[in-house]
Amino acid sequence: MSSVTSVIGLFGGTFNPPHIGHIEPLLQAAKDFAFTEVRLLPAPIPPHKTVVGATFEQRIRMVELVCKAYPILQPELCEQDLPTPSYTVNTLAHLRKHNPTASIVFVIGEDSLLALDTWFQWQRLLDYCHIAVLPRPNCQATASAPLSDWLAKHHKSDKSVVNQMTNGAVFFAETPLRDVSSTQLREWLANPDLVSQAKQWLAPEVFTYIQQQQLYIN
Ligand code: ATP
Repeated sequence: MSSVTSVIGLFGGTFNPPHIGHIEPLLQAAKDFAFTEVRLLPAPIPPHKTVVGATFEQRIRMVELVCKAYPILQPELCEQDLPTPSYTVNTLAHLRKHNPTASIVFVIGEDSLLALDTWFQWQRLLDYCHIAVLPRPNCQATASAPLSDWLAKHHKSDKSVVNQMTNGAVFFAETPLRDVSSTQLREWLANPDLVSQAKQWLAPEVFTYIQQQQLYIN
């Protein structure tokens, strides 16, 4: 009998702002993997990027608003209290300690996968979680040789593995392609003529908050 007691989908990001390109593929993955919980994990100071236009508190608020709009989602705010920079491997070790019998599926976009071998102690990630990769349009990069070898070793196509093992596998999710990024949205929101274009990619609650707080106006 499997000793896995639940399947936690964990989606990390800067969420500056959170958008439909995050949420729609994630909801599909939640169905396909039968996640029992889906947590959004906002990063305070991501090691690999600079954050412009919104404070960590404002990004957390936007994540909370998305979670209100989509009640299957919940915020995971542990990185607020963990040492910075917030290396994913340390966050996962922390979550594993608190959820010893859960399968943890760390969900990332394809662009993140292709840069995974630049992450701190990336080869230890699967000691704590599985990884599910969301396809993302216009990914130009290719996997390095060490990353390709690692993928070949850990890739599994049978999603039911998440009910049998708490960690250790990489999956390629079959989720809808959404051609949008937070960078693109920040650019549109800074231009009064393009705000309506941005609006269609945002939960209404998040759009209202961005306007109230006057975020991303250069
Ligand atoms: P930015 O443009 O500011 O770099 P982003 O839109 O890539 O931001 P993040 O919050 O940095 O969003 O991304 C969080 C996670 O979501 C990452 O793993 C990223 O690869 C993934 N992701 C973001 N947008 C998409 C998308 N349109 N389709 C699939 N995955 C996505």
